[in-house]
Amino acid sequence: MIGVAVLGSTGSIGESTLDVLRRHPERYRVVALTAQRNAARLFEQCVEFRPDFAWIGDASLHAALGARLREAGLATQLLRGAQALEQIASLPDADYVMAAIVGAAGLRSTLAAAGAGKRLLIANKEALVMAGRLVLAAATRSGATIIPIDSEHNAVFQCLPGASVLGHAPPGVRRIMLTASGGPFRSWSASALQNATPEQACAHPTWNMGRKISVDPATLMNKGLELIEAQLLFGLPVKDIEVVIHPQSVVHSLVEYIDGSVLAQLGSPDMRTPIAQALAWPQRLASGVQFLDLLQVARLDFEAPDLQRFPCLGLAMAAARAGAEMPAVLSAANEVAVAAFLDGQLNFAGIERVIGEVMNGWVSTGGEPDLDAVLAADSRARVMATSLLPHCVPARSLGS
Ligand code: NAD
Ligand code: MG
Repeated sequence: MIGVAVLGSTGSIGESTLDVLRRHPERYRVVALTAQRNAARLFEQCVEFRPDFAWIGDASLHAALGARLREAGLATQLLRGAQALEQIASLPDADYVMAAIVGAAGLRSTLAAAGAGKRLLIANKEALVMAGRLVLAAATRSGATIIPIDSEHNAVFQCLPGASVLGHAPPGVRRIMLTASGGPFRSWSASALQNATPEQACAHPTWNMGRKISVDPATLMNKGLELIEAQLLFGLPVKDIEVVIHPQSVVHSLVEYIDGSVLAQLGSPDMRTPIAQALAWPQRLASGVQFLDLLQVARLDFEAPDLQRFPCLGLAMAAARAGAEMPAVLSAANEVAVAAFLDGQLNFAGIERVIGEVMNGWVSTGGEPDLDAVLAADSRARVMATSLLPHCVPARSLGS
């Protein structure tokens, strides 16, 4: 039996992971589940999977959830606090750790799993963007295996030669092409984009995801974060990573080799495929996804991204080139701006303005940051972004 800890089990990726795991009870045992505040769902998951440990982030929910677990006769031990999350990520019984917490909140637990020699299934892209080098270094030291879950990076992982080592340029690869659906605003004019609402931004055409990461594809910041993620995971310079808009989300990314071969991974847009691939690798596992019907898909379109209408992608490219702590600054400012947008404090166009101003005003300390420097950059960028919000246009004043 393989023990699996699912961090962020109540989220979109967490639920998809549990759906794959529930299909293979003879092979995997869930040893820990974690959630920030959805105690009701975490309880249901504990009843179904009977993990040894559960963790709830919101301290005010701890006592009631603990009582419910005991009343239900479960032996699950309920933990809380930042340190306990790291302990869960390094539990001796957790052979595999799914890092599916959203945002910078997932960084320490992701690092803990990397440092503890686990098979680390990384969905938490912000952790990689902020401190990918630290995550890879910790994994190298401990012998952890990292498998990317983000569909594009998982696709690239599947198309790379067997001899590849994450963090190092793969032999014979000329470039990587990351596909992007283009999000719900792909064909919107620049002026219409100004007034886009959170509801419109969260109506993703092909993928069904958590709210923060539903806004990121709408601004193309998601692809920007993924470009940084790819630069890091596959050891390639930004110039060798191309972003291609592909509205059908069937080709999940491509790898071009120096001999002209291009390998791609295709499939229905369903995160259970990369999750099952990472759980089973190097074998394969049924995931429950709908199989691809090429005749029904009928056509595959590709177009260049429009950096004028979607400047967040350009900002991410600049952060990738700048390196050091700039990707962490970009990601932190993005988290603040997106939360403000979802909250009605910022209009859609304001997201890019806030991030751009934080990056412009940033004075780099230079050099490759350690964890403290990354976390300090993260907090400083959040303070800077928050202080800019009152000067930006709130969504409601536009009548949207
Ligand atoms: P989500 O918002 O649906 O779920 C997030 C999970 O993290 C929840 O379980 C929540 O309880 C937990 N969480 C939130 N804040 C926390 C905190 N402060 N401390 C501890 N736990 C916290 O998000 P998601 O869509 O499942 O995405 C998770 C991660 O996977 C993100 O980094 C995202 O970028 C990445 N990702 C998601 C998808 C997708 O299709 N959903 C695809 C690729 C990558
Ligand atoms: Mg992705």
